[in-house]
Amino acid sequence: MTLSAQADPTGQYAAFYDRSLAEPEAFWAEQAGLIDWFEPWHQVFDGSQPPFAKWFVGGRTNLCHNAVDRHAATRPDAAALIWSSTEVDQEKTWTFAELLREVQAMAAVLQDQGVGEGDRVLIYCPMVPEAVFAMLACARIGAIHSVVFGGFASLSLAGRIDDAQPKLIVSCDAGSRGGKVTAYQPLLEEALRQSTHRTERVLWIDRGLQPLQRTAGRDLVWHEERERVAGRAVPCAALESNQISYTLYTSGTTGKPKGVQRDVGGYAVALAMSMKHIFDGRPGETYFSTSDIGWVVGHSYIVYGPLIAGMATLMYEGLPVRPDAGVWWRLAAKHKVSVMFSAPTAVRVLRKADPAYLTQSDLSGLRSLFLAGEPLDEPTARWIRDALGKPVIDNYWQTETGWPILTLARGVAPMHERLGSPGVPMPGYRAVLVDPETGEPVTEPGHKGVLAMDYPLPPGCLQTVWGDDQRFVNTYWGSLPGPQRYSTFDVATRDADGYTFILGRSDDVINVAGHRLGTREIEECIASHPGVAEVAVVGVADALKGQVPWAFVVPKGDGQGLAQGVQAHVDAQLGAVARPARVLVLPLLPKTRSGKLLRRAMQAVCEGRDTGDLSTIEDASALQGLKAVVAAA
Ligand code: AMP
Repeated sequence: MTLSAQADPTGQYAAFYDRSLAEPEAFWAEQAGLIDWFEPWHQVFDGSQPPFAKWFVGGRTNLCHNAVDRHAATRPDAAALIWSSTEVDQEKTWTFAELLREVQAMAAVLQDQGVGEGDRVLIYCPMVPEAVFAMLACARIGAIHSVVFGGFASLSLAGRIDDAQPKLIVSCDAGSRGGKVTAYQPLLEEALRQSTHRTERVLWIDRGLQPLQRTAGRDLVWHEERERVAGRAVPCAALESNQISYTLYTSGTTGKPKGVQRDVGGYAVALAMSMKHIFDGRPGETYFSTSDIGWVVGHSYIVYGPLIAGMATLMYEGLPVRPDAGVWWRLAAKHKVSVMFSAPTAVRVLRKADPAYLTQSDLSGLRSLFLAGEPLDEPTARWIRDALGKPVIDNYWQTETGWPILTLARGVAPMHERLGSPGVPMPGYRAVLVDPETGEPVTEPGHKGVLAMDYPLPPGCLQTVWGDDQRFVNTYWGSLPGPQRYSTFDVATRDADGYTFILGRSDDVINVAGHRLGTREIEECIASHPGVAEVAVVGVADALKGQVPWAFVVPKGDGQGLAQGVQAHVDAQLGAVARPARVLVLPLLPKTRSGKLLRRAMQAVCEGRDTGDLSTIEDASALQGLKAVVAAA
């Protein structure tokens, strides 16, 4: 990799990265020494069936062993999980020994219900510690967990239940957000009704926030089961490195979310590598990620990564501004957080509050703040960097990759941040910008291309799409002309110093407050509203959330009250996270003569930009109509 002296003053990072590409087997074998193996692998990498990849073939290990047991054996009394909730005003710490007890109890409960290797367990919970116990318990016994973000509603959940076909679901009586309790049970019951798959068991975490209605023969309650199995030891299964650890659904261009499937050994090694070399997290310190376990950041950097690294992980339930905008900084000071991970939207929310909150807490132990999930705009980056007086490191990645593709590796060498850029490719990522028309690499600084990766992806990245190898091959490895490459579907440029800049998605995926949503998924939901004849959803730039969905609907009748009806429908079916910020009713949608929606033009109108080439439009009056409703909105 060519990085200027400006970007990589010592040349150390380029050397580290270059070795990961030139001698990948030696590089990753060395990183694999960061975790425990029950049995060594006989092949570091099997690339016999591209684009599929297998890492550490024949090696046997376990994510839970590496995250919990090995630390419980050497540092049983060190803090492992710190859970802090400003929703229910509670805080609790589990040492590694205590966490091991909880995880074994959860594993015993799962086993008693017949859950074993390869069985799916769906976890639909708010930010409660039991959800972490459940994830680790699955990892322990080789069950595949599929965590569904607690903000999703019944239709989203039903689709994921049908795809994952879980033997058991772990859920909660309720979540709470900003002090407002949301019952989970009605949402799950509705999802179970809507799904065709029959789930045999539901294990409820009863927080005492909402009464639970038990279904005999199906339902179990955690605190009762925990009593029953107390003290039972459940050993870690010695899993082959390429067995499946989990699936996690993410949105794409179709209405059907994809189950990103991950392995065991490659993921553990990639996380251990990233904790050491990228995040510079050290055993015995505390890591604080403000994400949610329902997203990939939560999987990698609330649960597995910090624990594998022997750090305490701080899990937070609540808003960043309640009781006030100082809450995260007080927590960081109290627990001596050394590495923090958040998202640009959260920082933009904090920026609206008094900056004094940032200086009221002693953050002397904090080394860096990492931000990811959406573009980090320069004013936000500059504000938080200056206010904190610490390095603020942007990092770019995807659910699919499980760990950063672009950032600065704080544990390898000091490098200068460049505002607006997430940085440079991380070890093992053979990143290339590709012209989407010709498939040719784009090498000129400042020229745009789709960010792609040559085969193979490094350890830890998706193995395939759960249950759909063809979709994995066609979607990710078949969308660009030229040699087979993995497409990120993000458009990017690179500057002369070697920094990459992400400009936005090349597909119909939008990013709302760091949450990735498919416009097609929202459209399909809105189309099922009885008053809607036709619908188009586009992502529109928003100063706080990055983007928000706007829906344009053609009504079946007169459209009276349709906007509110559509919003309530999306809330109930997909969850408030997907609710269109605006629903605008109009008689006709702008389309091409071949019937394709002119999404880019619609988005441009909403953002007050030039619509570009409209030579293919079928009926120009449709766009005039759209402009009029947008202007009036
Ligand atoms: P997700 O799979 O939900 O993590 O979403 C991944 C997508 O979010 C990427 O493909 C990008 O479009 C966007 N994204 C994530 N991190 C960044 C970042 N640091 N800068 C710009 N875009 C980002």
